[in-house]
Parts: sequence; C-alpha cells; structure tokens
Amino acid sequence: MPLSCEEVRSRLAAYRLDTLSLDRRREVGTHMADCVACGQEWNRHRWDSSARHTLVEELKMFLGPAYIPYFDPAWVESEQRGSGLDGVETFRRSMARMYGLAVWGASGSRPDYVEAGIPLLWAAGVRTIVDYGCGLGNDAIPLAEAGFSVTGDEVDSASLSFMLWRLRRRPTLMRPRLQPVRSAPVPDAIWAIHALNLLSDEEHHIWQLLRSVRIVVTENVLNRYDPGMMGYPAHQRRRSAADVASLLEDHGFSADNPSSQAPVILWTRRRRSLGLAA
Ligand SMILES: [Zn+2]
Repeated sequence: MPLSCEEVRSRLAAYRLDTLSLDRRREVGTHMADCVACGQEWNRHRWDSSARHTLVEELKMFLGPAYIPYFDPAWVESEQRGSGLDGVETFRRSMARMYGLAVWGASGSRPDYVEAGIPLLWAAGVRTIVDYGCGLGNDAIPLAEAGFSVTGDEVDSASLSFMLWRLRRRPTLMRPRLQPVRSAPVPDAIWAIHALNLLSDEEHHIWQLLRSVRIVVTENVLNRYDPGMMGYPAHQRRRSAADVASLLEDHGFSADNPSSQAPVILWTRRRRSLGLAA
C-alpha cells in the first residue's frame, strides 16, 4: 500500500539522513515527486535542517539581498523540464543547482565523500587531483585543506561564481580551472562525484583526462547508488550507475574494492583504454 502524506512526513528526517531501507527510501522519494505538498514540506525540512550551516551562511553573504530563503531547486528544475533552454532558463537552472548543492551539503544528506576518499587517495599515492564538476567546492575545498593539490573544474555558472567567492575567503587553497585546459599537467586522480552520470559524449575534455589519469574516484556506483540522494531530476541524467561503471571499465579501470559499502569507489587503471592507438 502506498505511503500516506502523514507517513511520508514522519520520515523526512530519516530520509534526509539516509537511515531508511532502500525500498522505503524509494517509496518516500516517489511520493514526494508526485505530491506537491509533501515536496514543499521536504524542501522546508531540508532548509530548516541547514540553518546556520557555514555553507548556507556563506551563500547568504555571497548573494546578499538576492538570497531567496527556502528556494526550492526541485520546483525550478521540474518547471523548466522539457522547455527549450534560453539564456534566462539556463541561468535559473544554474541558480537552482547552486541552491540545490548548498542545501544538499548543509542538510546532512550528502554523504561524507571526502572523509571516505582521503585515506584511499593517500594509500594510492595521489597528490594532485582534478575535481571534475566541483560545484560549490563541497569536496575540492576540504581536499585542498587535507593537503592535496586540487584543481577545480566547473562550467561557467552561479555555482562557479560562488565557489570562487568561497576561495577568496580561503586564499591559496586551490586553483580553479575556468575552462578546460588540455595542456595542463595530467593529475594523479580525477575526483568525479555525481559528475560522470551527467556527461554527454561531446565533452571531450574529460574523455582525454580519463585516458591519461591513473586513478578515478566516483560515488559508490557499484553498491550504494541512489540517484534520489543527489536531488538531480531524472531528465538531467544521461547515464545509469551501471553505465558509469562500464564507462570506467572500458577505459581500463577496475574498482579497488568492488564490494565496498563506502560512499566512494576508487578506480585504478589496470590496462590501456579499449580501442586506443598506442
Ligand atoms: Zn503527500
């Protein structure tokens, strides 16, 4: 029997902290996707849980009077779904992503990818990292603070402007890469959390990096993948978890610990990419 609104609302905190069973989690997520009132309640719950978090305080400072309390990224995303994206729509989507990444990071929903990844990266001898699709710097900033040499890679967007603003408050931490720089030195590792599933085939820059780099870190696409966690609507995703895994395998990578339940998987190159000339 489907969950009632009452049952959904009593589970919002457990949903946010990812303590529900996967089946229950899916039921709650499906209900909220279809029920406007519960979707709004979820949005309010997330922001209330994020109050006074540094990330939200920084977002308020960055936007000043333009800051919109309780901005609902999901609402904007669904409203523009299927419409042709003109400049204004692209900007709105970019704003929605920035608010969405902020509330995801601040509300406790986002797994601690960095904490899980750091020991794996040190053990693999990684020193230099490109954080591909680094968004607001949720991972790039703490990775740099942990001592890695980090280059953030992000499309021109509200999120990028906010990340640059955050970096100015933390001078010398990392180098933002504003545009793909093919001649840049190859890093030891690509950090790609919820990034490879959004890629289209035309984004050549990352394909080049994937052919050169030794280590890739992704969200746990093998055992813990739950797109609902991220909050990206389905229409933006171009690859399933299985597609991301086989993409990496086709590029010669294999998972160091394929049965891991950790938030991240570390992939190491075992052989050359398929179909590549020497
Ligand atoms: Zn409902």
